[in-house]
Amino acid sequence: MTKKLKLLLIIIFIPLLFSFNCSETKSVEQSKDNKTDLTPKKDSTKKLSNKLQILVKAYPDFIEKAENNKIYWKDGTTMVYDDGKNKTYDDLLENPDIEDMLSQEYTIGANWDVPPAKNFEPGRFRNEPFFEKMYGASKSAVTSNLTTINWFGTSVQVSTVNGVDEQFKSVMKELEKLPAEFHKYFNKTAGTFNYRKIAGTDRYSAHSYGIAIDINTSYSDYWQWDKSMTYKNKIPMEVVEVFEKYGFVWGGKWYHYDTMHFEFRPELIIK
Ligand SMILES: [Zn+2]
Repeated sequence: MTKKLKLLLIIIFIPLLFSFNCSETKSVEQSKDNKTDLTPKKDSTKKLSNKLQILVKAYPDFIEKAENNKIYWKDGTTMVYDDGKNKTYDDLLENPDIEDMLSQEYTIGANWDVPPAKNFEPGRFRNEPFFEKMYGASKSAVTSNLTTINWFGTSVQVSTVNGVDEQFKSVMKELEKLPAEFHKYFNKTAGTFNYRKIAGTDRYSAHSYGIAIDINTSYSDYWQWDKSMTYKNKIPMEVVEVFEKYGFVWGGKWYHYDTMHFEFRPELIIK
C-alpha cells in the first residue's frame, strides 16, 4: 500500500471511529435513563455491515463472509443474522439471534460504567446454534475438541477450536508477570469445561463449550449469591485487562454480575 493511500484511509477512518464511540456512549446513557427497556435499536446500514465484518474477523477459521443479513460458514451452510423480531429482555436471553449477541457493546479496559445499567450485560446473550457450530453440538462433540492445560498448577480442559487454548496460555503468561499481590485472584480456578445448563434455565453455559473459566471464588461476587442485585467486585482491573487483551469478556461488567467468570468472545472485543 502506498503512503498516500494509507494516509487517505487514516483520514477517512479516524472520524468514522470517533462517531462510533459517540453513539456507544449515548446508547449506554440512554439505557441508564430508561432502565426497563434495553430493546436493541436497529443498526444503521453502515453499523450493520461493520458488525458483520467483526464476526468474520473474530472467527476466521469458520466464517467465510457475512453479508445481506447472512453468515456464510466455510462448510457451505448459512445462518440468519437478524431474525427481525422485537424482543423483551427475557426473549434476548432465551432466544437471541446473532444480531442480539452484538446488540450491547462491551467496553474494554478500566474506564467503564460501574455499576452496569439494568440488564446491560454484553456477552450474556448467546445464540446457541452459533456456538454449537464451532465448538460442538453435544457433550461428545465438544469433548473431542478439548485439550488439557496447566492453569497455575491445576489441570483444566479448554477448547482447541478458534485457538482458545493458545489464548488461555497467553493470558497465563501475562498474568504470571503481574505483581505477587494479584496472584491470589487467579491462581486458583473454580473450573473451565463443564457441559451443563445454567441453573434454573434451559440454556447451556459458556462453560459447556470449553471457552470459559471461573477464577478464585474466594474473591468473587455473583448476583445469584446476593439477589439484592447490589453490584460488588473485588477482582482488580489489572487482571481483567489481561483477559480482555486475548479476546475474553468479563462477567464483572454485567448487570447480572459474575466476577469470577471470563469467556472467549472475540466478537465483543474486536472494535
Ligand atoms: Zn463461569
